Amino acid sequence: MGLLDSLLKLLGAGRTPADEGLYYYVRCDKCGEKIRFRVDPRWDLAPNYDDGDQASSYRVTKHIVGQKCFRPIEVTLTFDQNRKESGRSVTGGQMITAEEYESDTR
Ligand SMILES: [Zn+2]
Repeated sequence: MGLLDSLLKLLGAGRTPADEGLYYYVRCDKCGEKIRFRVDPRWDLAPNYDDGDQASSYRVTKHIVGQKCFRPIEVTLTFDQNRKESGRSVTGGQMITAEEYESDTR
């Protein structure tokens, strides 16, 4: 590592605040439009207090509306105590992968 690199590292150059958002992709059942949406685990998750004070899980519901048919797609994601995704359900569309989203998007 060169002197310049060390210096830049010391100054924290090139470090950007981490984006904590999770990106998800859905395809509309009606028109086939692919839509990307973002969930921020810090702000979007609502705790479930099933037993006691400790949140046992988290849940977020998003209504995704595309540009083509304006039909809302309802996506419900559940997360465990460690805010790791533990389940998902989609009404009006299908979850797709980032690869599917990026392939032949028009
Ligand atoms: Zn649609």
